[in-house]
Amino acid sequence: MSAAETSTAPQTQAFAADVSRLLHLMTHSVYSDRDIFVRELISNAADACEKMRYEAIAHPEWAADGAPFAIQIAVDPDGKRLTFSDNGIGMGRDEMVDALGTIARSGTRAFLDKLGSEEKDRSGSLIGQFGIGFYSAFMVADEVDVFSRRAGANEAWRWTSDGKGSFTIAAVALDEAPEHGARVVLHLNPESEEYADSDKIERIVRQHSSAIAIPINIAGKPGDESKPLSEGAALWTKPKADITQDEYTDFYQTLSGQFDDPALTIHWRAEGRHEYTALAFVPGERPMDLFDPARKSRNKLYVRRVLIAENADLAPGWLRFVRFVVDSADLPLNVSREMIQQSAVFAAIKKGVTNRILQELTKLAEAEPEKFAKVWENFGAVLKEGLYEDPERRDAIYKIARFATTSAPEGGRTLGAYVKDLRENQTAIFYLTGDDSRRLAASPQLEGFKARGVEVLLLADPVDSFWIGSAAGFDGKPFKSVSQGAADIKAIPLLSGDKPAEEVDAATASLLAYLKQTLEREVADARISDRLTDSAACLVAPDFAPDRHLERLLSAHGRVAERTKPILEVNPRHPIVLSLGRRLRDKADKSLLDDAAWLLVDEARLMEGDAPRDAVAFATRLSRIMQKALDGV
Ligand code: ADP
Repeated sequence: MSAAETSTAPQTQAFAADVSRLLHLMTHSVYSDRDIFVRELISNAADACEKMRYEAIAHPEWAADGAPFAIQIAVDPDGKRLTFSDNGIGMGRDEMVDALGTIARSGTRAFLDKLGSEEKDRSGSLIGQFGIGFYSAFMVADEVDVFSRRAGANEAWRWTSDGKGSFTIAAVALDEAPEHGARVVLHLNPESEEYADSDKIERIVRQHSSAIAIPINIAGKPGDESKPLSEGAALWTKPKADITQDEYTDFYQTLSGQFDDPALTIHWRAEGRHEYTALAFVPGERPMDLFDPARKSRNKLYVRRVLIAENADLAPGWLRFVRFVVDSADLPLNVSREMIQQSAVFAAIKKGVTNRILQELTKLAEAEPEKFAKVWENFGAVLKEGLYEDPERRDAIYKIARFATTSAPEGGRTLGAYVKDLRENQTAIFYLTGDDSRRLAASPQLEGFKARGVEVLLLADPVDSFWIGSAAGFDGKPFKSVSQGAADIKAIPLLSGDKPAEEVDAATASLLAYLKQTLEREVADARISDRLTDSAACLVAPDFAPDRHLERLLSAHGRVAERTKPILEVNPRHPIVLSLGRRLRDKADKSLLDDAAWLLVDEARLMEGDAPRDAVAFATRLSRIMQKALDGV
């Protein structure tokens, strides 16, 4: 096909597969809140204006008309049509194909992935909670036309779709599109004709889009003069005292694309070497893309009200859940985005913003612990990434970090409180890592600690294995895994007042030798445990080896060739261990003894969340022992 043909003939194309899925979902489910399409279209129009404002610095001729930026809504009650026009950057043909034919935003992707798995029946409420962009128009329209002309281009295009699998693009006369910008026309479907009513639209705009920084006008009927709906002042430039919490919330919702209330609003003006204004929000709910592998913080950087970068990465990855805008007067407008992001001023702002957010989180943790608990519940797993990524701020993060422990399984313990309650002779902060907090709390490794009243941190977030491995300690106390090395707790008195086991007697010593020899393939050593009170055995990592859970994680990702052999620890007072000792002395039934020895190891593996090394051998042994037990009865 020649270039000329590509650029003029109307062409129909299928939507990318995930767009079709999203559209299908949107037109076939019942929504509690269809109103959101207004907010989504206005937000796109405002973004386009902000992009234009920036581009016009380098290309003033593109904005030769000199018209102030504005979003125009036109209602046609008779024609059942609704039109959103803007004089923003507009789209060329290829941009239309890309932007309106595929799904770019990671939040929407995450949303779809989520739907693919467990959340199907919640799709309605999920859509209500998270904006899904342009495609929301198809909730209320059975046809959508987008007329657009890209700034600086001398061709205009019309994109049309009924939202049922394909769209068509055709060239149109220049006067059918804005001089630069886009006009989105919704042909309302019969169930949505109520939206052809300017009062209703006005109400929705006031409710959801009052914080948009571009003026919005509305015309109630074709031929009517339009009237201003919102003046489009940038909220962050107003004095704090003149802003209500509702206005902040609106702004947050527009910025984040979420519908929750922010848990924390921070609005400040930095003065001194670098001057800037910042308005930041800690969301009340987890955003969809919180665990997106890119781990980018999403914040907007303005220079004197001109949007320079939409995803400016002005905060470290471990603060990526905070949504904010920064407006600086110290950055040059006429250099490229990339140059700005590499400048010393940018780095200084990033540092300032990071410090301030952390400071405010600390204040919240002190002043309103309950409110902070919710923040930690949502974002603690992300904040903890800072413990290994940002050594400079490690101490500050330790201060606000909250943990589940054996004394507070539901969470909320601080390291400060832990250290205050150390037991006599306790010299370390003990922890256990795993991926399931309930199983962690029931680990045999904890028994000896519980018997001594020693608190143990229960770390169940994947990130825990990483920071704790590199952490030096807190308040002079090293962190120590309860599943690694010698337990080091002998010197801590038992709550019962009993004395810990003395020297290993001869029977136990020969049992240990037997276990070590029999299980040689699986364990590096067998020894008496200080850790156990109720269980017969557990596995621990040798002193020099990585923590068991960390090694399991690394091996699951193919990062370690071979796992270290663990040490089998047995409880010399446990009835099974005592019987085993007796049977060994009496030289009775060698096969029963071997089966029991192997089952001890496999049981210990199971308790850690591992599978038995050899499932067939495990089942065979278990059956043999069951048979013997049943026959014996
Ligand atoms: P998002 O806005 O999060 O990127 P959308 O689905 O709402 O997702 O929009 C997809 C893309 O379509 C936008 O990123 C933008 O490139 C383009 N777009 C939508 N509306 C407009 C508009 N009014 N002017 C220019 N481009 C637009």
